[in-house]
Amino acid sequence: MYTFKEIIGNEKILNSFKKSIQNNKISHAYILDGKEKTGKTLIAKSFAKLLLCENSGLEPCLTCTSCISFDTDNNPDFFFIDTEKKSIGVDDIREKVIKNIETKPFKYKYKVFIIKNAQNMTIQAQNAILKTIEEPPSFAIFIFLTKNYNSFLPTILSRCILFKIKPLSPALIENYLINKGINSNIARFYSAYSRGSIGKALEIAYSENFITFRQDIIQDIERLENLNQHNITEIYNIVNKYENMKDSINEILNIYLLTYRDSLIYKQTNNTKSIIQKDIENHIKKIANNPSKKLINNIDFILKAKLNLEQNSNFNMTIECLLLDIKGDKIWLK
Ligand SMILES: [Zn+2]
Repeated sequence: MYTFKEIIGNEKILNSFKKSIQNNKISHAYILDGKEKTGKTLIAKSFAKLLLCENSGLEPCLTCTSCISFDTDNNPDFFFIDTEKKSIGVDDIREKVIKNIETKPFKYKYKVFIIKNAQNMTIQAQNAILKTIEEPPSFAIFIFLTKNYNSFLPTILSRCILFKIKPLSPALIENYLINKGINSNIARFYSAYSRGSIGKALEIAYSENFITFRQDIIQDIERLENLNQHNITEIYNIVNKYENMKDSINEILNIYLLTYRDSLIYKQTNNTKSIIQKDIENHIKKIANNPSKKLINNIDFILKAKLNLEQNSNFNMTIECLLLDIKGDKIWLK
C-alpha cells in the first residue's frame, strides 16, 4: 500500500513533500536519486497518490475514489513509465508522456508521471521532455527515478528539485525487520547484508532461495578453510562453480566478507555480541582460530577482488587468486 506511513527513514524528503503541499508550492519536476532498492518507487508513488487524493491532508486518505483506483492501478491521471528496454527513447517519451500531457486531467487535480530508470533516457528523449518541463501545463507533475542523476542534461537538472535517497542505518533496517516478524538473530544479518537498502533487506528476508544460497556459500567457505594447503583441484572446483553463478558474485563475496569480518570481531572481543551472523556462531568461532593478521588479510583480499571485478578483470583469474590468497598462497592480484 502506498502511503508515507510505510516508508522508513527519509524523513527529510517526506517533510519536504508535505511542506510543499501545505504551502501549495508543488514543483513540476522532481528527481529521486538513489541506489537500487532504496525505496524510490515507494516514496514517489506515495507522493503521487497524495497529490491525486481527493481529501486534503498530509497522507493519502486511502478511502477516496482516487486512492482506491491508485492502488488497483486504475487511476486515470497517474502514469508510471517503466520500460523493460535498456534505453528510454524519444518515441517512448512521445507515446507515454507527451501524448498524455496534451489533455487535461480526466478526474483529479493533476496528472502525475513517474519515470523509472530515468538514467536510461537518451539525450533525444531528454530533450523531448525538456520542452514540457520548461513550460509545463499547470496540472503536470513529473517524478524521475534514477540511479545516477549525473546522466541528466544540466538543463533538466536545473528545472527539477533533486532529492538524494541515502542508505538507511543498519539499526533502522534491523528494527524494521524484527517488527515484521523476522527472527532477531537473522534480522541483523539481513540488515548488514542489505547495506542500507530496505528493498534488498525485504527481498532476501522473504526469499527461500536466498537461505539455501547462503548456506551453500557458507559451506564453500568451510570447505576452503578445511582444505589441505595445496589442494588446487578443490579450489578450481569452487572457481568453476562460481563461474556458473557469475551474476550473483557480488552476493557471494558479501557473504565471504561478513563471515571473515565476524570471525575477526569474535577473535578480538572474545564474545559473540557484535557478530552479525549469530545463526552460524560455531562456524564463525572455528574460522576465528586463524591468526588476526590472516583474517584481516582475507578481508583485504575480498575487497580487492570485488574492486577488480567492478573494473572488469578476468573473472576466473580474479576468483582463483582470491581463493588461493584466502588459502594462504602468496599470489597477489595485479
Ligand atoms: Zn484519497
